[in-house]
Amino acid sequence: MKVFIFICTLLISLILPAQAVTILIDPGHGGEDEGARARFYYGKKKWRLIREKDIALSLAKKIHEELGKRNFNSYLTRSVDRTVSLAERAEIADKIKADYFISVHVNASEANEPRGFETYYLDNHNDSAIKKVESVENKNLKGEELIVNKILTDLVIDRTVKYSKGLATSIHSRIQKIVGKKYKLKDRGVKPGLFYVLALTKRPAILLEVGFLSNSRELNKLLNDRFQDRYAKAVAQGLSEYIKNQSKSEPSLL
Ligand SMILES: [Zn+2]
Repeated sequence: MKVFIFICTLLISLILPAQAVTILIDPGHGGEDEGARARFYYGKKKWRLIREKDIALSLAKKIHEELGKRNFNSYLTRSVDRTVSLAERAEIADKIKADYFISVHVNASEANEPRGFETYYLDNHNDSAIKKVESVENKNLKGEELIVNKILTDLVIDRTVKYSKGLATSIHSRIQKIVGKKYKLKDRGVKPGLFYVLALTKRPAILLEVGFLSNSRELNKLLNDRFQDRYAKAVAQGLSEYIKNQSKSEPSLL
């Protein structure tokens, strides 16, 4: 009988996959919220308008696909160009019981020179550079919501910061190894940031600023399909490595 039970248990464990980790990929902006915008010149006077929301969606879909290949339960907050409120993004995270939340954005500056990639993790550490990005990424929140969210944010950060930072570090170093060197990108580092879309999800969360669309040389790279493929692979690898190390060292937070 014992042998029978053992064989049954073994068979069940072989048939059922190990409990998969659920990831919610969030393409920044969408619909009437276009995010940052820039002109892409393909001739002397010929140009077309590039919008952050479109690059973010394209990249997010590729990351989603890569995670699927690695047997993660991966979801997108939007798969088309539509308006999604920050609250709705958080609701999706609750609904699918996401373990981690990854928001995808593209940077912009009024100057042409700034370039490079950076990875933010949810934290309320203060810094003028963070504030600048925050104001762009948090711009569609009204004052009243901000107050409520600030209280919520403090509680969430205490509980998640360690995991958010670990995930951000792992993914960032993969991006540097796979994409940064090949495309000569400037490494702007892993940074703490107070993004309400991250806080509202109430789980470990990071925000990727892939590059600057206000820098024409960088915009060329961002629009390149191979670049986007490599970037997506790097994110998926960084995430896999983090999950692997996490399960070795200690049980998950959630
Ligand atoms: Zn953005």
